[in-house]
Amino acid sequence: MTTQTTMSNFVTDFLGQVEAKNPAQPEFLQAVEEVVTSLEPVLQKHPEYQAAKILQRIVEPERVLMFRVPWMDDRGEVHVQRGFRIEFNSAIGPYKGGLRFHPSVNLGILKFLAFEQVFKNSLTTLPMGGGKGGSDFDPKGKSDNEVMRFCQSFMTELSRHIGPNTDVPAGDIGVGGREIGFLFGQYKRLRNEFTGVLTGKSLDWGGSLIRPEATGYGAVYFAAEMLTTKNDSLEGKTCLVSGSGNVAQYTVEKINELGGKAVTLSDSSGWIHDADGIDEKKLQFVMDLKNNRRGRIAEYTEHFGNSVYYETDPMLGYNPLWDVPANCAFPSATQNEINGKDASNMAKNGVNLVSEGANMPTTPDGVDVFLENNFLYGPGKAANAGGVAVSGLEMAQNSARLSWTREEVDNRLKGIMHSIHESCVSASGTYGMEGNYVAGANIAGFLKVANSMMDQGLV
Ligand code: NDP
Repeated sequence: MTTQTTMSNFVTDFLGQVEAKNPAQPEFLQAVEEVVTSLEPVLQKHPEYQAAKILQRIVEPERVLMFRVPWMDDRGEVHVQRGFRIEFNSAIGPYKGGLRFHPSVNLGILKFLAFEQVFKNSLTTLPMGGGKGGSDFDPKGKSDNEVMRFCQSFMTELSRHIGPNTDVPAGDIGVGGREIGFLFGQYKRLRNEFTGVLTGKSLDWGGSLIRPEATGYGAVYFAAEMLTTKNDSLEGKTCLVSGSGNVAQYTVEKINELGGKAVTLSDSSGWIHDADGIDEKKLQFVMDLKNNRRGRIAEYTEHFGNSVYYETDPMLGYNPLWDVPANCAFPSATQNEINGKDASNMAKNGVNLVSEGANMPTTPDGVDVFLENNFLYGPGKAANAGGVAVSGLEMAQNSARLSWTREEVDNRLKGIMHSIHESCVSASGTYGMEGNYVAGANIAGFLKVANSMMDQGLV
């Protein structure tokens, strides 16, 4: 048997064990499989990782917290939600990763997100371990008071487990500035401490400039870096963007700034196509609609004449948003929003660059289509790392009790996205997979964490 076959057998057996140990967690298994498959050549070159069972240790969270979150609605009715925090890996720094409030939240989804976060945080060059948390609470349709009561109940339990040197949560789907404010207020009250225990804070009380913009801006900077390798730029490119929340909004803003044209946005009810482009004025409307009035994207077409709205059709088996002719795509809504057919539609319609603002938005068969068609494909753990990177910069500013200027933070963000791109290119080149950013991101992210785990002994 060749070494290659032995290694493939090892990976297959290993994935079988992970599946047996983590039943009914398909998203977690998907994330593990993608990473472990790209690590084959690394494990072959470094038998010491196998001897120390680094892989077996890296897929097992250091700690999983699951707790009851009771809260009362405005009519006096009691509700019980489930709260989670996955403290996955602290080899290179305190656990760091967002909180997601969405009815679909479960243990498997948060474990996939926390696992991805370990490698993403490692790529940022900053000292942050990986974690993620959240609840199956749905903030949609709730009053501000209901959201506040829920956040206070959630933090009452979470506060026992986090701290500025232990675990520093941030926002994610359903957790924006409003929720971070309520969570921070309750933590401060319980602990009688004003610390940088959360990131994504408001500017008035310890937040960082550019944090709200960072994930979207970073995904566009990463796309620009990939295009530079082909002596190309975003100037004049038509771009598809999904979602209409935090990441999507600032992705559109930066695409416009760099001379591209964003033509789509979506929410869970449907999507809009505006062939004229979503310019700054239209984007301001979307920001007010989503961040203040908390309305639906369908309203866009009532205000901007040439645009069209299409309702989501779950029976269709593909998403027609990805069938619009374009050059670049920035998925910015949620996991597995692009399947094999969507990816084929993109290839057919001229798209050859995908920069993932969302986490794991592409299914494995979709990723195969991107790689077979030689797309410039920036996977989420590299392309959307700008958000957590600026969270890391927020932590640094909090520790120093200082605030940096917008230019300073934006320049650091650009520098970090450049260095993540370099790391991906260099790692994929070293292991003979030039141009494969998936392998590059997984390998570069893994090596730093694995080496730190080796240094720190069997813990
Ligand atoms: P928001 O809650 O601000 O926005 C999410 C958007 O995606 C909304 O338009 C929402 O529509 C849509 N969406 C959510 N779930 C679904 C679904 N199941 N089907 C269809 N549409 C859906 O979240 P963010 O913009 O912060 O996050 C978007 C993605 O980016 C997520 O994958 C997140 O993990 C990732 N990410 C976010 C970071 C950040 O800094 N915020 C950092 C790195 C990654 P609706 O309102 O109808 O639910």
